[in-house]
Amino acid sequence: MPVFSLDPAQTAWCAELRALAAERLRPLAEKGEPGHVNRPLVAALGELGLLGRLFGAGALELCLMRESLAQVCTEAETALALQGLGAHPVAASGTPGQRARWLPEVGAGRAIAAFALSEPGAGSDAAALAMEAVPDGPGWRLTGEKCWISNAPEADFYSVFARTTPGAGAQGVTAFLVPADRPGLSGGPLDMLSPHPIGSLLFDGVPVGPDDVLGEVDRGFRVAMTTLNLFRPSVGAFAVGMAQAALDAALAHTAERAAFGGALKDLQAVSHQVAEMATRTEAARLLVYAAAAAYDEGAADVPKRAAMAKLLATETAQYVVDAAVQLHGARALRRGHLLEHLYREVRAPRIYEGATEVQRTIIAKELYAT
Ligand SMILES: Cc1cc2nc3c(=O)[nH]c(=O)nc-3n(C[C@H](O)[C@H](O)[C@H](O)COP(=O)(O)OP(=O)(O)OC[C@H]3O[C@@H](n4cnc5c(N)ncnc54)[C@H](O)[C@@H]3O)c2cc1C
Repeated sequence: MPVFSLDPAQTAWCAELRALAAERLRPLAEKGEPGHVNRPLVAALGELGLLGRLFGAGALELCLMRESLAQVCTEAETALALQGLGAHPVAASGTPGQRARWLPEVGAGRAIAAFALSEPGAGSDAAALAMEAVPDGPGWRLTGEKCWISNAPEADFYSVFARTTPGAGAQGVTAFLVPADRPGLSGGPLDMLSPHPIGSLLFDGVPVGPDDVLGEVDRGFRVAMTTLNLFRPSVGAFAVGMAQAALDAALAHTAERAAFGGALKDLQAVSHQVAEMATRTEAARLLVYAAAAAYDEGAADVPKRAAMAKLLATETAQYVVDAAVQLHGARALRRGHLLEHLYREVRAPRIYEGATEVQRTIIAKELYAT
């Protein structure tokens, strides 16, 4: 399949996803409470079979879902993505027992998943994480804090990364599957600019056993990076979907808004701005598809391409959404306007799953590696 164009079946599927998002998901998203998990919306994503496609599906399929949903309903897009992010460590590294317990529930939208890596003292430098896993009988007790965790504290289970070997950096981290009802686990919401639910988690001697380990002891950083290599291009796809929504809005508005005896689009400064927005959006889309295709082919340069796709697409979306706000004037800033919503949504992806600067660091490291 050439990555520079989708085949007719993929194009039709994207149109179908956009229609489902408008008819079935948007009304549920509108009933949700900002900052809280919208369980009816997640259940609908399950009923429509979209969550079931998260595991085993390729990166390109994930990207097409994220881009298409984001164009119409960012809440549905993010709810889908977070189920994938939180449960991918289980799907990729879990035991048959862990997979059987949780993946059908995640796929049906009945169990909410979350990915708990970041800490107050370890964000971009995730290998500096300090959450302690102290040996206790055959298992461990987890003590420490996680913060900026999407879906926390309302998730039903967490993929948690904790230090089993002190002082060993990335080599001493283990991934654990922690159900939310474990004793000693508490949390609270964080009020963020980003509209989806985010919170912090406090672990006070939370017991975990060998059956809760995801993958191997001291190999948990690889579990995290495997998940991020898949999800980074798809964050780019989310950004491309938002950029396309902003571009479509700008096209419609500038074609009909009367000013200076014509439509706004008759001003060359305006039409050239729209042309620039469209060109950059298309370039970002192609880089995302190429990175996803490279992932699906098992290409050697996935980390570099995933980083490039996430970097370009999230920065482009910020530019396009900002330009669309400018072209709309005051109405874009009114609470509840599509662009007011996108303006809030578009900011965080430049920071999470590796900030823009961290993507540049990854790209440079790969370029200079021989
Ligand atoms: C909306 C949202 C949702 C999130 N969801 C989750 C989640 O579900 N799970 C989870 O584990 N985490 C989550 N996070 C946390 C996110 O992964 C971290 O915010 C991110 O890793 C950056 O860490 P930090 O915020 O501590 O910034 P810091 O690491 O303190 O970095 C601050 C800034 O310093 C600069 N910088 C950092 N490193 C470098 C470098 N190497 N070179 C140059 N400049 C650099 C960048 O500009 C960066 O933005 C979420 C964050 C947000 C905003």
